[in-house]
Amino acid sequence: MTETAFETVPAVAPVEPRARIGTVVMKFGGTSVADPEKIRRVAARLVGAKRGGSRVVGVLSAMGHHTDELLDLAHQVSPRPKPRELDMLMSVGERVSCALAAMAISDLGQDAISLTGSQAGIVTDTVHGKAKIVEVRARRIHEALDQDRIVLVAGFQGVSTELDITTLGRGGSDTTAVALAAALGADACEIYTDVDGVFTADPRVVPDARKLHAASYEEMLEMAASGAKVLQLRSVEFARNHGVRLHVRSTFTDEDGTWIREEDERMLEKAMISGVTHTLEEAVYTVRETNPADLFEALAGASVNVDTIIQIGSDIVFSAPREDRDETAGVLDGLGAPWGERDDLGKVSIVGAGMKSHPGVAARTFGTLRDIGVEPRFVATSPIKIAFYVGHDDVDRAVKALHDAFDLSSPEAERRHA
Ligand code: ASP
Ligand code: MG
Repeated sequence: MTETAFETVPAVAPVEPRARIGTVVMKFGGTSVADPEKIRRVAARLVGAKRGGSRVVGVLSAMGHHTDELLDLAHQVSPRPKPRELDMLMSVGERVSCALAAMAISDLGQDAISLTGSQAGIVTDTVHGKAKIVEVRARRIHEALDQDRIVLVAGFQGVSTELDITTLGRGGSDTTAVALAAALGADACEIYTDVDGVFTADPRVVPDARKLHAASYEEMLEMAASGAKVLQLRSVEFARNHGVRLHVRSTFTDEDGTWIREEDERMLEKAMISGVTHTLEEAVYTVRETNPADLFEALAGASVNVDTIIQIGSDIVFSAPREDRDETAGVLDGLGAPWGERDDLGKVSIVGAGMKSHPGVAARTFGTLRDIGVEPRFVATSPIKIAFYVGHDDVDRAVKALHDAFDLSSPEAERRHA
């Protein structure tokens, strides 16, 4: 049995009558706001969109590595910081960038207001460190937009149903942006970042990887779940479930990036594979003589985000993020079943909507691995993905060989948008 566990996505309030056509949500990542000069450039970009006639909501990440620094600070003070206080601390980074951007926007002669997640009406559940948005109450944003202001919302955070500050998990500003785009009925959610878009493979591993012009929600979900870091997985689920079109593009150019949207014919025909992704950030666990229901209920109770699951007789193999290691070990110890962990495996995935209708993808994948002498350990598939685990040392070679085997350096692989 294999499965990629995606979370369900909450309803957001139906678009209020006040929502206007022409609303755009523009999200800027940490490298895009890393210093005062860059914040001024982001401010100018937001003002440009406003002067072009849009109602503009900016969602900002923390400056550069600010979130990491705050996390590090917490661990310098306390070996096990309380999750509630950690969220109080970590939510600060995004507030800093929003306040600064609002100042810079005022200097450009445009009215702006910065809001915390809580002020913006982002209501979450009570799970500190990876809270899920349960509701967006966008009244205050609408009011500010109606007053002709640019609204800056601190990404990555909300307020829980128990009125505590929560954060949405690393990379969570993407989810803030998409949730707001859904709630505001925005035309699109633009994700500005330090790369030009989504690539057919990580360009650091495959220098001739191509920028995709378009990918379907399903493909992007699989890619985000299997190592493409450009979007938080949950933001893609949210976008798919609410039909929000995403445009992932560079902060530093005006060029089009990658559109994430409904699947269409061209995606299926042009290139059957959209990309080869990889990750070294999962640990693989083997649990013996256990009951899958007990195991996965306990892991869910500890908010461990399980990815690949394979059952072999009475053994269960599953993968989970390294950052959930302590929680995972706690659950497995609690179950009392013998278990082991491997952190020397990387996961390589090939993803493509065209796989559904083209036979031979598995044959080509495993033939390629055989030819380069790489032996996959565990294999997991979905209708549009083949993923396998190999030793860390074999990951780059496997990615390069598969990128070649599926011709992903050719212009055909780009899949033109519109
Ligand atoms: N600043 C947060 C992080 O580093 C959230 C984000 O950037 O999306 O994870
Ligand atoms: Mg990010």
